[in-house]
Amino acid sequence: MTPELLQKYEPVIGLEVHAQMLTKSKAFCSCSTEFGASPNHNTCPVCLGHPGTLPVLNENLLRFIVRMGLATNCEIRERSIFARKNYFYPDLPKGYQISQYETPICHDGFLEVEQKDGTLKKIGITRIHMEEDAGKSIHDFGAETLVDLNRAGVPLIEIVSEPDMRSSDEAYAYLTTIKSIVTYLGICDGNMEEGSLRCDANVSVRLRGAEKFGQKTEVKNMNSFRNVQRALESEIERQIGLIERGEKVIHETMLFDANKGVTRPMRTKEEAHDYRYFPEPDLLPVTVTTKYLDEVRSEIPELQRARRDRFVSEYKIPSYDAGVLTADKATADFFEKSILSLVKKSDESIKALSNYIMGDVMRLMSERKQTISALGLQPNHLAELVDLIQDKTISNKIAKDIFPDLLGNSDSPKQIVEKRGLVQVTDTESLRATVRDVIAKNPNQLAQYKGGKVALFGYFVGQTMKATQGKANPEMVNSLMKEELEKA
Ligand SMILES: [Zn+2]
Repeated sequence: MTPELLQKYEPVIGLEVHAQMLTKSKAFCSCSTEFGASPNHNTCPVCLGHPGTLPVLNENLLRFIVRMGLATNCEIRERSIFARKNYFYPDLPKGYQISQYETPICHDGFLEVEQKDGTLKKIGITRIHMEEDAGKSIHDFGAETLVDLNRAGVPLIEIVSEPDMRSSDEAYAYLTTIKSIVTYLGICDGNMEEGSLRCDANVSVRLRGAEKFGQKTEVKNMNSFRNVQRALESEIERQIGLIERGEKVIHETMLFDANKGVTRPMRTKEEAHDYRYFPEPDLLPVTVTTKYLDEVRSEIPELQRARRDRFVSEYKIPSYDAGVLTADKATADFFEKSILSLVKKSDESIKALSNYIMGDVMRLMSERKQTISALGLQPNHLAELVDLIQDKTISNKIAKDIFPDLLGNSDSPKQIVEKRGLVQVTDTESLRATVRDVIAKNPNQLAQYKGGKVALFGYFVGQTMKATQGKANPEMVNSLMKEELEKA
């Protein structure tokens, strides 16, 4: 599709995001939410929907959703009720999901997403409500379908945005902002690939300048941040194509096929939703007092954008670096803990720390697909390594060599350096002797060097570093080598 054609239309996008809460137990019973238990192990009469059992609200689900509501500038309803969303499905033993309908606990909020040019754009939050997850049907066993109810009753919050996004880029920025907020609040692990964050989109297009929204479709089945963007782009182009050919967009649910990169209509009859919502008679209304709100408000930490800006002003690191370091809360925490352990808290040392984390540490995290805490690296050890480089006890080269040994090791860098005799050689006379020795052993190269092949200087330096097993101070070797080559 030509850029001119895309420019002629304006996409209108709203997102519905489900986030799985990091509570220890389920939403309305005390079963564990732990992932990976054997099938149907984490179940009880309540989440299996046995007659006569009664649900009880998990206090942490309430706490977590109120945190999210406050962090996204929502009104928190003083009194909200639960509702039954009725439908039949084999993995839904009760025949309904407990959700909230007319009185979502959080409503009318907004969050700000950063656009490509760095400016902020407000995206309205229509509502955030609590609900429970359904179980899981497993179709991998030939003709048979198996049902695992470990997930039945796991607590979710659903965050519904206003149709305020005007491009797939904005939708992507909105989603990453949601991820950042829920992980900073400690209420969800934000992992879209594993299903802790799920996203559906409402998409329509209209001629630029038009006021009336076009006919929307719903897009589902997008299981990564990148796929959300791809799915939206493909759906936007499909709708523009229809309109340009004089056809009509019809209201339907589209599934994204990640392999082909296109959306296609869902074939089932699930369209005809009538959930027959009615108030849940087994649960009391939820009351939120001002005192409770104040208490939860005090639990909300500094969020990513504020922290990034503080890193720039407090630690004098570039905004880009601060953005990378604060993208993940645990990494930002690690960075700040390391700074506390530095002996010399100079701008130079802090920048060196930041470089180490953005380089070696993050490379390992992505190679091993591990969080920073799972690497087994201590923040005080990384700080000590930087201190040792800064006071010239070891060279950068040696630091790089021993870095892997810091992982899961109780020895500090200082201990490792001492045990292996890796202290940098900064004794001028002994270095000068080595330099002379290297020159004496390479008469051919010396002749060529003297004959004008100055690039051989690097060779002499390299030989000296090799002779000292990398322990020589490179700056000293450079200047001594210059002196000695001139004399030779
Ligand atoms: Zn249960």
